[in-house]
Amino acid sequence: MRAHESVGRVYRRCGCRDKQGRQLGTHCPQLMSDPAHGTWTFALDLPATEPGGHNRTVRRGGFPTEDDAHTALHRYGAGRRIGISADPNQTVADYLNQWLTAKRLPSASTGTTSTSTHAPSTSAGPSRRSTTTSSP
Ligand SMILES: [Zn+2]
Repeated sequence: MRAHESVGRVYRRCGCRDKQGRQLGTHCPQLMSDPAHGTWTFALDLPATEPGGHNRTVRRGGFPTEDDAHTALHRYGAGRRIGISADPNQTVADYLNQWLTAKRLPSASTGTTSTSTHAPSTSAGPSRRSTTTSSP
């Protein structure tokens, strides 16, 4: 099993602000008392794409129910595993089309942990002056 399998989380937050104008986010007291307050958000921690890089956290919010957020989270995770970035706001049909397209790509089945096969090679340095050494 892969130790790096991303685990997402789903939580509810709102746009209320305190007296200083800062968003209360998940700390709004109304979230405790009112189950319909705020919207659902999912967050997914992604491992760094390169050694020494920083982990990223993908967050998508505005889902009306916890189920919606969970569905979007699963969809995003599943899409990531086959190398596509599933936008929770796209339609299911669009998602399936993208999924089928990705399945046809031969690179999608050579399974490594990272599904992004378009990472640039780091062997070529940032400065390119290889052809200018021999002057006429
Ligand atoms: Zn609130």
